[in-house]
Parts: sequence; C-alpha cells; structure tokens
Amino acid sequence: MDYTPLRMDASQPKLRVNLYSDTQTRPTPAMKAAMLAAEVGDEQFGWDPTTNALQERMAAMMGKEAALFLPSGTMCNQIAIATHCRPGDEILAHETAHILTSEGGAVGAITGAQITGLKGARGMFDADTLRAALRPRTRYAPPQALLEIEQTANTGGGAVWKLEAINELCAIAHENGLRTHMDGARLMNACVAAGIAAKDMAAGFDSLWLDFTKGLGTGVGAVLVGSKEFIGAAWRWKQRLGGSMRQSGMLAAGCLYALDHHIDRLAEDHANAKRLARGLGQIPGIVAEEPETNLVFFNVQGTGMTSASFSDAARQHGVAVSTNGKYRVRACTHLDISAAQIDEAVQAMGAVVKAA
Ligand SMILES: *Cc1c(COP(=O)(O)O)cnc(C)c1O
Repeated sequence: MDYTPLRMDASQPKLRVNLYSDTQTRPTPAMKAAMLAAEVGDEQFGWDPTTNALQERMAAMMGKEAALFLPSGTMCNQIAIATHCRPGDEILAHETAHILTSEGGAVGAITGAQITGLKGARGMFDADTLRAALRPRTRYAPPQALLEIEQTANTGGGAVWKLEAINELCAIAHENGLRTHMDGARLMNACVAAGIAAKDMAAGFDSLWLDFTKGLGTGVGAVLVGSKEFIGAAWRWKQRLGGSMRQSGMLAAGCLYALDHHIDRLAEDHANAKRLARGLGQIPGIVAEEPETNLVFFNVQGTGMTSASFSDAARQHGVAVSTNGKYRVRACTHLDISAAQIDEAVQAMGAVVKAA
C-alpha cells in the first residue's frame, strides 16, 4: 500500500470525495459531545473509569478475559508480538500482512523476531500452505512462535476470512506449539459482512485487536484483548513504548460511542463499495475486483495509465484514491461517504479515463 501522504495544498482543486482511506473519517458532533462529557482519571494507574469501561466492554465482546487501550493498531500488533515472541522467533503471516509491509520494520526493530510471508490469493492462505511452512523443532530452525492473520485482509481486497478457515489454521498452529494473533484492524467489517459475532471470529486467537480509527470513525484508539496473563505482560510493553496515557477517558468515550453507533452502519459502507465497483466496472479500461467489505481495488492498466498517474488525475477532479502496485488502485468507503458521493466519484473517474 502506498501511504504517500495525501497532498492537501492550496494549488489543488477542492477535495470532494475522499476515498483515500477509511482513516479519513472525522469524529461526528455526537461523538465529540460524548468525548467532552467523559469521566476521566489517570489511566496509567488504572483510575480512568471510561477507559476501564471500554476495556471491560471489549473483553466481553471478544470473549476474552482482559483488554488494553492503546493509541494505535500498530502499537497493538507490536505489543502483542513483543509479548508472544522472543528475539530470533519466527512469525508466520501472509506476505502482504500489515506487520510485514507497513509497520516500519518494527518486528525486527522492537522484538527482534522475523516474519515469513506465506502466499495465497486475496491476502489469505490455506491449511496446506501453513503446514508446508512449519519447521522441525531443531537447533537450526528459528523457533516458530506465532501465526498472524489479518481480518479483513487489507491488500487482499478487504477479503473476509471464513470462520471455518481461521479455526482450522488456529488449530494447526496450536497443535504445533505456535500462538495465534489476529490483526483485527477491520474485524467489525468482517463480522458485519459475514453476519458472525466478533467473539466467534475471535475464538481461535490468543490475542487480537480492533481499530477504532478505520470504519468506526474515531480520531485515536485501538483495543488489544487476550488472557489476563497476556494483558498483564502487554502492560509492561505499553509502559516501555510510551503507550501509557493519563486522562484517556476522552478518547475511550469516542470508542464507546463508536461501539454503540457505528458498527451496524458498516453495512452502508459495504453497499457503497459494491456501488462503486459496479460504477467503475462500466468505465472502459478499468477492471474492478468484487468487494466483500469497504475496500475497492481496481486495475487501471487498460486505460493506458498507471495507478500513480490515475490517482494524480483523479485528485485534479476532486477525488482521492490510494495506489497499491503499478496498476492497482484502492478506494475506501467509510462513515463520511454517501451514496451520492460514490456516484460523483464514478463520474469524475470516468472523466479522468476519457481525458486520457
Ligand atoms: C491500519 C492498519 C493497521 C495499523 O493501524 P493504525 O491504527 O493505523 O496504527 C494494522 N493492520 C491493518 C490491516 C491496517 O489496515
């Protein structure tokens, strides 16, 4: 994923439809009101009642013993990895996994573990691929410590791992002495799309986390969950990395608000994604992947443009998208995007292709 920062300078036309990422949402007035009204205390001491309420609610929702509020999803991944693994350990994940491609090499820099990327269509791999990656426990092989799965698979097209598939993979991992971790940045998108409860999706995992800054629409926050023992150890890493906060209740209140108001509506984002893919499919030269959730990937090679030239031209038409590879473009639907804006974006991108 090319996360080259989105340029927003005065020389560019006004941005009308921001499909760059689902992180582009802004807290709604009602969310801000809930944040302002939050009861607060010193989080580092365990005295922030709103943060405690969020943690309790998340642990219950995911069917785990305990939870930890953190500033970001990246910190959830890195603290979970640091807690599960030791230097020299091996982590198995898809080759496009966020922990491998997009966290600045943090696994090597912080834990000193290594990641082996597994292959498979749409950001997913199967049981045979996992079995083939297992190594004998010899003094030569890196100790295999962790299986990591991304739900939904981001660059896999926002694809949803099937419950049976993740349960099978987690069982294989556990039988072979590996622990299991879910990067649940967009877990609720998967749950809404599949009609499966979060605690069922979470059942096979020793740890997992949910991001509140993607489709759920807050400005800050992610929650990591697991056993009491795991979260106890994770707390030390939170302290070490400077992730302990103070009156974090204002942030946690935004997350609680999102749990109450922004989950069921993810279905609207998914409908908008389908609407967008249908519209893009009508534009000559564009081939859109069938979206399962809120991420729409499409190939622009047939237009004679690259993803970079396409996204620059779209920006000139007031539409922001991101790029993933030479010809692959990503557009995300989210809380701040209406069906009318989808139609506006399709029209603008049609004009981009026509001009090319
Ligand atoms: C965004 C994202 C992350 C990182 O989350 P931040 O809150 O931005 O740190 C991790 N994994 C996936 C799949 C993501 O999309």
